Amino acid sequence: MVTVIGAGAAGLMAAVTAAENGESVRLLDRNGFAGKKLNITGKGRCNLTNDCDRDEFIENVPRGGRFLYSAFERFPPRDVMGFFERLGLPLKVERGRRVFPVSDNARDVTNALVRRLETLGVRVERTRVTDIKPLLKTGRVIIATGGLSYPLTGSTGDGYTLAASVGHTVTPTSASLVPLLARDCAPLAGLSLKNIVLSVFDGEKRVFSEQGELLFTHEGISGPLTLSASAHMSDTPHTAYIDLKPALDKQTLDTRILRDFDTARNKTVSNALDKLLPRLMLPAVLNAAEIDGSTRVNSVTRNQRERLVDTLKAYRVDIKGFGSIEEAVITRGGVSLKEINPKTMQSKLIENLYFAGEVLDADAYTGGYNLQIAWMTGRAAGLG
Ligand SMILES: Cc1cc2nc3c(=O)[nH]c(=O)nc-3n(C[C@H](O)[C@H](O)[C@H](O)COP(=O)(O)OP(=O)(O)OC[C@H]3O[C@@H](n4cnc5c(N)ncnc54)[C@H](O)[C@@H]3O)c2cc1C
Repeated sequence: MVTVIGAGAAGLMAAVTAAENGESVRLLDRNGFAGKKLNITGKGRCNLTNDCDRDEFIENVPRGGRFLYSAFERFPPRDVMGFFERLGLPLKVERGRRVFPVSDNARDVTNALVRRLETLGVRVERTRVTDIKPLLKTGRVIIATGGLSYPLTGSTGDGYTLAASVGHTVTPTSASLVPLLARDCAPLAGLSLKNIVLSVFDGEKRVFSEQGELLFTHEGISGPLTLSASAHMSDTPHTAYIDLKPALDKQTLDTRILRDFDTARNKTVSNALDKLLPRLMLPAVLNAAEIDGSTRVNSVTRNQRERLVDTLKAYRVDIKGFGSIEEAVITRGGVSLKEINPKTMQSKLIENLYFAGEVLDADAYTGGYNLQIAWMTGRAAGLG
């Protein structure tokens, strides 16, 4: 008998795999149904994997990458895609080799797995497991309880307690792929910036720099770029710089500003720059460049213009820390990989025990890599 605890991505894959292998499977989830988190992935579209090779995959897994080598070899993205297509779920590959269901509906991913399980005679039973010792006497047990993020989906870290109860080490957990807390962002709350470059520095060291979309919130910054940046950051304070005009070098930007000033000779700086920047951003930029917005353009000095260009190319945001784990996409930390066999996901301490998915101390960047981890560790644990 195999008992799978958790009917998320990893648990579903583990249960299908074990049942296909002829094992008798019990699938337990505290929700009484499968895939509560899976259904909201990829903004409801589910970016279920990334059509990449092994080296690329490892590059996108900052913590736990090497441990995942053999699980990747056993179930690489191409095989994951083939698996879902055989279940009757057509897939498409988008920008950055992100893989989605053609239907753009995450529920179809869950349903494909649930249907397969039903065919194999496995149903989800509503149980919140609080003690694994009795289960370990009945056969193999696979802990696939997820991490701590989005706890309303049922992932509240129970797996860490269950693992610790039988002697496993759990490395400290924190948020990853999470909004960032930053000073002085409240006046900009709600402003979304597209096609900007966000660069993040830990002291002198640049730890992240990418182009994309960023959102200001009351507490700091969010949006796809920010979430990605957070996965590259440690707990120390960081400084972020936003290049508001990445397509223009400083010289070209200065020429553009001079042209704007030229066509608005008697206007104030604020009025003259309203085409260059979103209205909400202007006061913040002028403030950072130490220019009074009511200054007439014909009295702006060369020095002031230089400061304006510098600010537009590197608007500074002081990062205070990470947002809460509840709003994180993924949990960093978890069951220590040192105590797990990388080929089978079997515990090195307890013979009948296996782990799969986010409960493990492995996490990746955005792009479908986290679900790929869930599928391949679920597969390995299911095979045993
Ligand atoms: C908003 C959001 C969007 C995301 N989008 C993507 C994306 O597009 N692509 C991507 O690769 N990754 C994405 N992720 C990350 C991805 O969802 C996770 O990596 C993945 O769901 C982890 O799968 P899992 O099976 O390990 O855990 P989960 O999916 O969290 O499943 C764990 C299950 O265990 C159950 N459970 C917990 N404790 C117990 C217990 N004691 N007893 C019984 N059952 C229990 C829970 O109810 C839950 O159903 C996203 C995450 C979030 C929050």
